[in-house]
Amino acid sequence: MNTQWIVRFHDGNAAMRQLLGGKGANLAEMTKAGLPVPPGFTITTDACRAFYAGRTLPGGLMKEVTDALEGVEAQTGRRFGDPQRPLLVSVRSGSVDSMPGMMDTILNLGLNDETVRALADETGNARFAYDCYRRLVQMFGNVVFGVEGVHFETLLHQLKQSVGAASDQQLTAEHWQTLIEQYKAVITRLARTTFPQNVQDQLRLAVEAVFRSWNNQRARIYRSVNRIPDEQGTAVNIQAMVFGNLGDDCGTGVLFTRNPSTGDNVLFGEFLENAQGEDVVAGVRTPRPIDELENAMPEVFAQLTRTARQLEAHYRDMQDIEFTVERGKLYMLQTRVGKRTAQAALKIAADLVAEDTITPDEALLRVEVGHLDQLLHPAIDPEAKLEVLATGLPASPGAASGAAVFDADTAELWAKRGDRVILVRAETTPEDIHGVIAAEGVLTSRGGMTSHAAVVARGMGKCCVCGCEDARVDEASRTAVIGGRVVAEGDIITLDGSTGRVIAGHVPLKDADMTPELMQMLAWADDVRRLRVIANADNPEDAAKAREFGAEGVGLCRTEHMFLSPQRLPVVQAMILAETAEDRLVQLRKLLPMQQADFEGIFRAMDGLPVTIRLLDPPLHEFLPNLEELVGRHLRLTLQQGDADAAERDALAGLIRKVRSLHEANPMLGQRGCRLGIVFPDIYDMQIEAIFRAARVCMLEGVRVLPEIMVPLVGHENELRILRELIDRVAGQVLGADAREVPYKVGTMIEVPRAALTARKIAKHADFFSFGTNDLTQMTFGCSRDDAEGKFLSHYVDNKLLPANPFQVLDGEGVGQLIEWAVAGGRAVKPQLKTGICGEHGGDKESIFFCHSAGLDYVSCSPYRVPLARLAAAQAQLTLGDAADERQERIVS
Ligand code: ADP
Ligand code: MG
Ligand code: MG
Repeated sequence: MNTQWIVRFHDGNAAMRQLLGGKGANLAEMTKAGLPVPPGFTITTDACRAFYAGRTLPGGLMKEVTDALEGVEAQTGRRFGDPQRPLLVSVRSGSVDSMPGMMDTILNLGLNDETVRALADETGNARFAYDCYRRLVQMFGNVVFGVEGVHFETLLHQLKQSVGAASDQQLTAEHWQTLIEQYKAVITRLARTTFPQNVQDQLRLAVEAVFRSWNNQRARIYRSVNRIPDEQGTAVNIQAMVFGNLGDDCGTGVLFTRNPSTGDNVLFGEFLENAQGEDVVAGVRTPRPIDELENAMPEVFAQLTRTARQLEAHYRDMQDIEFTVERGKLYMLQTRVGKRTAQAALKIAADLVAEDTITPDEALLRVEVGHLDQLLHPAIDPEAKLEVLATGLPASPGAASGAAVFDADTAELWAKRGDRVILVRAETTPEDIHGVIAAEGVLTSRGGMTSHAAVVARGMGKCCVCGCEDARVDEASRTAVIGGRVVAEGDIITLDGSTGRVIAGHVPLKDADMTPELMQMLAWADDVRRLRVIANADNPEDAAKAREFGAEGVGLCRTEHMFLSPQRLPVVQAMILAETAEDRLVQLRKLLPMQQADFEGIFRAMDGLPVTIRLLDPPLHEFLPNLEELVGRHLRLTLQQGDADAAERDALAGLIRKVRSLHEANPMLGQRGCRLGIVFPDIYDMQIEAIFRAARVCMLEGVRVLPEIMVPLVGHENELRILRELIDRVAGQVLGADAREVPYKVGTMIEVPRAALTARKIAKHADFFSFGTNDLTQMTFGCSRDDAEGKFLSHYVDNKLLPANPFQVLDGEGVGQLIEWAVAGGRAVKPQLKTGICGEHGGDKESIFFCHSAGLDYVSCSPYRVPLARLAAAQAQLTLGDAADERQERIVS
């Protein structure tokens, strides 16, 4: 029979996932494999899209459903709505990408006041029949009519209390009948409609409701976090019911073919005797571990074990299986690739390679890049004893301990004086951003995974637990009641952003380890990838850490961080405030050995690997005290009018003048980067000298030094030309005869659009281009990151004006064009020109994919992201191949 909107289980297969959704495609595949699947069919995702386009079920759909149902009736020997042998069905959602628990499913459709009696007679089990019916009325009321579950649960609870029943098991058929009438009344009262007795109406309303559940709030949030397209729609599966609640030779359960938390190759799962569907997850009764099924039902257990092995071998991956046993007979209700922790993902992939089930290349594609992020954040020591107060949403991984504070200003203040703080809020708004920055972690009682706090914290790699409903935050009295415990300002709490746990007190954290499985996986990645992965490291410790994680060099060493330590800042300030050139030089001479020592440390840590050092980039006023503070101090001194203070007052006035003179309306677009180095060459002079002195010292020690000096913010070739002359001159002076032993490179950051556009000219003076994608994004979009993220950007992303935050995911369409243009232009002049990106995008999977296809030579990212970038670069090679060459040719020609 030709059908437009439905596919029967025995006509489909696993490859039809786009059309049938994951659940439908796998039910079809299992049917094809001869496994015991209750008969049924799938309404396609096409039908769902048509439903949304036309705002009503597409014409002809229900006719096809009725026809297909006849097939199920023939197979089961039952009829839908039949007063003697009624067929019951489930109506199950099932999207293309698994969205566990986000959409709705209704069981036991086809029951009404009449058929329920038939079911009772037929099975000789009235309690069972009315149990099914009350489940239907509740699910229907909830999913179709939108009556909140709590109304039903309250009634059930009251009933149990009034009859003195401790569990559902103790309720009788008569109790269920009473409850069903109460449920119907609740629907009438709250939804102003009645529970339909006509089974065809039930079916139609259920299908519509499942389609609608595609757009419920939690489904939408889940999609936006997991980047699942909104247009996809869900399929709907209609399937004959089987009953796990018919007695003690019945049951239902969930089985993973391997342990999803550890990855161990043992069956892992739970089952419940005499239960239906969601009882296992709902926590009505505590389920039993799957091993116990062996004693309870040995034959079923043996068959289940065989089937589990068969499914895993067939899909070549760990499976998450739903099954039901009806009077000793096993039925398979679902199989899908099982969700797993990061640790399990690595172990399972490595084991499957060892078992010869998959190749190393396939294993690389099986591990989610985001998973490595989770693995490499410092985590709570699994040995530690914890007092868990409450659990919220695991919004941003990592763990942090600190003093609870209840507003952003306090967070900032306490952090400034050196305390570690956790910002606790009912919810955060963009105005709290300074508090989020200052805090080690963020806890909110409201808001989901895409709430402001979550998005911002993830963006900053800060741990965050949000939507923690067991935390009552009282910002006015600066306290919170978390899981019944009062937490006052200053009390220490710990957040576990990977699990959502809120823990009392301080908890020891453990630095991430490179497990053998991870090392193995990354070794495979290194064999495959074309992009080199290097790290951003500003000091020897970070450089060493990066190397441990597999970095092949340093791609960005920011020298300004070396100026900010308490011993150095006063010298830097004195240098900036110097009235004369000689005075400035005196201060610079003091800084020189300090910088030199830093560089030596980094060169040693990166022995044999290139180290890219960026000359000073930020505007000078960033090193001076805050203007408002100075003015305030001056005012206080003036008011005191003591003569003794006169000298101090004059000095302060001088300082204020200097700070004012350096003040800029738009520091981001002001005198910074090479503009500073050109106007005040002494500073760059000192830095370059420090680099080459350090290089020489290390070289003489036997360290192989490969310095690469990077000039920031070039927009015109002349800027790079004269600074290159300066670098070459100082190199000659410092290295002298040793010059050949220290092969250095000079390059520039490409972060001003003009530099990208005139790349051919700039390349003449450059050995490498490093795309500073943060500034390049700011200048291409014409917005500053700090202002954008705090104000309009999240609005843009929420409303889908932008596919993602371009500061997190490189904007391939816009900023990417500049990069491709510059690479093509630069290589046309200098085929050996080295190209790469530095900055946060270097640790983002999608951005790394872009870099691969744009033909860049490397990405540079923070040390903790190096393993992740190695994996992503391998995945890019495996999924995109050598696409870069073609692309480059296209741009050049
Ligand atoms: P979810 O995607 O939320 O798991 P499902 O559609 O898988 O939703 O169904 C929810 C529960 O109902 C599952 O435990 C499933 O096994 C059970 N179930 C679904 N259809 C049937 C059926 N035809 N017979 C018995 N149990 C079913
Ligand atoms: Mg399911
Ligand atoms: Mg920059």
